[in-house]
Amino acid sequence: MPDLLKGLGASSGAATGPAYRLGDPPRLPRPRAVTDVDGELARAFAAMDAVRDDIGRRAAAATDSTTAEILRGQANLAADRTLRDGVAVVIRDGLEAPHAVAAVLAEHRAALLAVGGLLAARAADLDDLRDRIVAWCLGLPMPAMPAPGRPYVLIAVDLAPADVALLDLSQVLAVVTSAGSFVSHTAILARARGLPTVVACGGALDIADGTVITVDGTTGRVTSGSVPPAPAVTAPTDNGDPRGSTADGHRIALLANIGGAAELAGACVEGVGLFRTELLFQHHVDPPGLDEQVTAYEQVFAAMPGRRVVVRTFDAGSDKPLPFLSAGDEPNPALGIRGLRVVRRRAEILGTQIAAIAAAARSSQARVEVMAPMVTTVAEAAQFAALCRDAGLATVGVMIEVPAAAVRAAQILGAVDFLSIGTNDLSQYAFAADRRSGELADLLDPWQPALLSLVALCAAAGSAAGRPVGVCGEAAADPAFAVVLAGLGVTSLSMTPAAVPPVRAALAAYTLEEARMAAQQALAATDPAAARAAVSRF
Ligand code: PEP
Ligand code: MG
Repeated sequence: MPDLLKGLGASSGAATGPAYRLGDPPRLPRPRAVTDVDGELARAFAAMDAVRDDIGRRAAAATDSTTAEILRGQANLAADRTLRDGVAVVIRDGLEAPHAVAAVLAEHRAALLAVGGLLAARAADLDDLRDRIVAWCLGLPMPAMPAPGRPYVLIAVDLAPADVALLDLSQVLAVVTSAGSFVSHTAILARARGLPTVVACGGALDIADGTVITVDGTTGRVTSGSVPPAPAVTAPTDNGDPRGSTADGHRIALLANIGGAAELAGACVEGVGLFRTELLFQHHVDPPGLDEQVTAYEQVFAAMPGRRVVVRTFDAGSDKPLPFLSAGDEPNPALGIRGLRVVRRRAEILGTQIAAIAAAARSSQARVEVMAPMVTTVAEAAQFAALCRDAGLATVGVMIEVPAAAVRAAQILGAVDFLSIGTNDLSQYAFAADRRSGELADLLDPWQPALLSLVALCAAAGSAAGRPVGVCGEAAADPAFAVVLAGLGVTSLSMTPAAVPPVRAALAAYTLEEARMAAQQALAATDPAAARAAVSRF
């Protein structure tokens, strides 16, 4: 392999170890003419039932809600009536059970890919379902995990949710896939499990078994060669104090990015900085009702008594379409009806969600705040704030993900109480580069000085107004970058809980003045590499 491969950093953290590739899926034998149609129908349905039950059992055994929800969705697919009817038609047309299942799932897969976005990211779920059902029909084992007898980095085309959920983290140090995207289930579950992961990494499949590689899930870089084999980088341990501060005591709140209450188990954080509510309902065909939402939000609030919890209203559209909310008829969904903009078409859904957050907040001890994604103008911020305040939610903020909002941060702060910078989307829109594109990863590098300038603009507006400005994009999880953000004037950092201890340790190693000087060096650099080098020299 070349010394450096680039993909998309899908789950932050770094690890070094020998690479081993997942075994190949079962191969279909040459098709034969069907003589016993009823026997083939029985074989196909028994396989689908067995796979549904197996994935259902894994869902029941899952220790976090994200994993359970994703596996339940996949189990439901195996039991899907349309799928069964389709398989029956193809068997009656003369194909054997495993071939019929493969053919029908291939049609469903093509339909998902044609829709694009989040649904396309679900193709891996269907591939896994096909492999499991085909393997059952043929009496073959599922593709086996490598067993090199030492901790290793797992290489695969893509991983199925059922695989990620069950990875043995004492053996698997990191994951690199040649396919996948930031929003694939592989990436979501890897983040939930704190497993460093790089997806969409071209060339990953050429890495020979046993080659020692270093995987950086924050930058998406996979390097080989000189790095010595070592177990996963050991993170600093928590001493039980969740607070973050610089060496001279300047406070930077350290918060969690979550999609559900289970991700807070064992987390040593000051609160939740980004509760991605859309992840709770991503498989819902109909909008979730008020009561269902209240129950889901209460679970998170109950885990954080006395602490800040920032609930983000549904961020649907583009790479995260929600079946019940997405526009579905747009030529360029990333620039279309997404985030807060869905209020233009479906105001009632936002109204119900705000009412549910307010109801759950009333019965909880958490300090609940609410923010909207993809806000572009002062008018949108003011409209959102009015809706929330009318519902009794006192503290309202907006995400800064659109460059137009960043350059008007001061005016937006006239309408809301806080800003939270989403560097994932702010990079995408500032650099006109799809956040899922592995090929454009260099443009999406958070160390791009132009991105730092936008962050600096927002932080300065916050400091002038005396209002908090946090960062909740994945970039906050990079310890060196976190120091730069503190130096730019950011007041809180929110990230996947597993990334918090190294960030806390990095902040504690520098005074605020040193962080400011590091930030100035990064801002003055001409490109990301120079910014990194300047800060590491510093
Ligand atoms: C972001 O865009 O940086 C962000 C935190 O939101 P999401 O990744 O959920 O789009
Ligand atoms: Mg975003």
